[in-house]
Amino acid sequence: MIKEKSLLMLPGPTPIPPQVAAAMTRPMINHRGEAFFTLFDEVSANLKYVFRTEQPVYVFPGAGSGGWEAALVNTLNFGDKVLSVTIGDFGDRWFKVAGALGFAVERMEFAAGLAADPAKIAERLAADTDKQIKAVLIQHNETSTGVTNDVQAIARVVREHGALIMVDSVSGMAALPLETDAWDLDVVLTGAQKALMCPPGLSLISFSERARALSQTNKMPRFFWDLKAVHSAYTKRQTPYTPAISLFYALQAALQMLREETLENTWARHRLMGEMCRAGVKAMGLELLAKDEARASNAVTAVMAPLEPKVLRKTARDRLGVQLAGGQGALESSIFRIGHLGYVTPNDVLQALAATETTLALHGKLDNVGAAVGAAQQVWVARLRG
Ligand code: PLP
Repeated sequence: MIKEKSLLMLPGPTPIPPQVAAAMTRPMINHRGEAFFTLFDEVSANLKYVFRTEQPVYVFPGAGSGGWEAALVNTLNFGDKVLSVTIGDFGDRWFKVAGALGFAVERMEFAAGLAADPAKIAERLAADTDKQIKAVLIQHNETSTGVTNDVQAIARVVREHGALIMVDSVSGMAALPLETDAWDLDVVLTGAQKALMCPPGLSLISFSERARALSQTNKMPRFFWDLKAVHSAYTKRQTPYTPAISLFYALQAALQMLREETLENTWARHRLMGEMCRAGVKAMGLELLAKDEARASNAVTAVMAPLEPKVLRKTARDRLGVQLAGGQGALESSIFRIGHLGYVTPNDVLQALAATETTLALHGKLDNVGAAVGAAQQVWVARLRG
């Protein structure tokens, strides 16, 4: 094997396009000068396009997790009640963040492989007659289980109650349909290292007008994540502190690619890759973790592993040059995941399936290879024929 030639099929970080890598080699510029203002304008306009919002999308240097904190500290007050809906590891983490910051967090949990049930959320909110619940936290796409929540339906029931709806779309943004304004979402956050096709290091977040108004008066202490400072700088085409200029260039290049492909086509490509991957997995006789295929993620597929996931992944990586992801938390020894988001094509999905089949065959778990790739190809052919 050529060590350097390895196919990265993780649900983040994802591969980055050559033009994105090249963009980061540009010389430094003055972040308080015209060159940065022009860059800022273009990136800001294209982020609104991707987020489907007319509101500003703020860019922080940081990991996606920073967005969880920014969402909470800018809109709520110490001790406020928050309903944290979790369907997996990332939901659990946001729940922990809210608790660590001093909010009164109530947890609503759904078993691994299930999506959140909007009716259950509606029922809980209906019981909150004195409107103690100030915000509902939800993942758009739960990366750890490969399940996509019905954010539109959930947003509808939250709106009826009046709480804020905060959406973690770290692995959903640009891969799966999300309508920030049309669904009236109060906070939407993502990271650069997933379907935005950039290296890790940027946390991106939008606030509805209602949520931004709350940031003017709420009392949570903050400095780095302070929306007042960030918004004020935004109106001057800047950030309050030194921006990650090279990552801004990367984002500029990636967003140009997304605009060229168009968001609708990007969503369609991810839908195709999700369908191909699921068809391939089932053709190998393997089981999806997602209990309801209609809610299975088109960004990442979680599969019940027929052998120790660490062994499976090691063989795929070291002998076949394909990097698959493992399970997180309680799922560590039972699943593996195939990421198919960002700078990834149907061809890559075929390779990932081929590597999985070959791995299973090498470990005596499969007699014949080819069924998975064939099934995925059938999906592709059908799509191409229209
Ligand atoms: N939320 C989801 C759904 C994620 O998939 C991730 C990372 O994979 C995060 C949040 C956290 O992002 P980061 O690791 O950049 O902090």
